[in-house]
Amino acid sequence: MFCPKCRYEYTDQVYVCPDCNLKLVPQLPTKNEDTVSTARFVPLPNLPGRVYAEMVKGALEKENIPCYIQAAGIGNAYQFSGTMPLEGVQLYVPEDQLETCIEIQHNMMDHI
Ligand SMILES: [Zn+2]
Repeated sequence: MFCPKCRYEYTDQVYVCPDCNLKLVPQLPTKNEDTVSTARFVPLPNLPGRVYAEMVKGALEKENIPCYIQAAGIGNAYQFSGTMPLEGVQLYVPEDQLETCIEIQHNMMDHI
């Protein structure tokens, strides 16, 4: 029996994961389903602009953290024609890795 959350394997006598307080399942869900259900993306706060967003994105990808950039004013394609406001960009990162991402971002800013 396995815990669907922490994926720990238990003996047949155990029916609830003591750590997660979740009912054990005979089989773990496939990894794909797992990432879909747990990956929630949130915008990284205090990003000064698109250049920084690109740099932080590169650093996160080096750490194998999935992320993507989204312009705040989506649908306003003309904003990309050189005069786009710097504030109009958000870098989305997985919610459960937000702390790590903020740390990486801060480390980067210190070196600029
Ligand atoms: Zn568990």
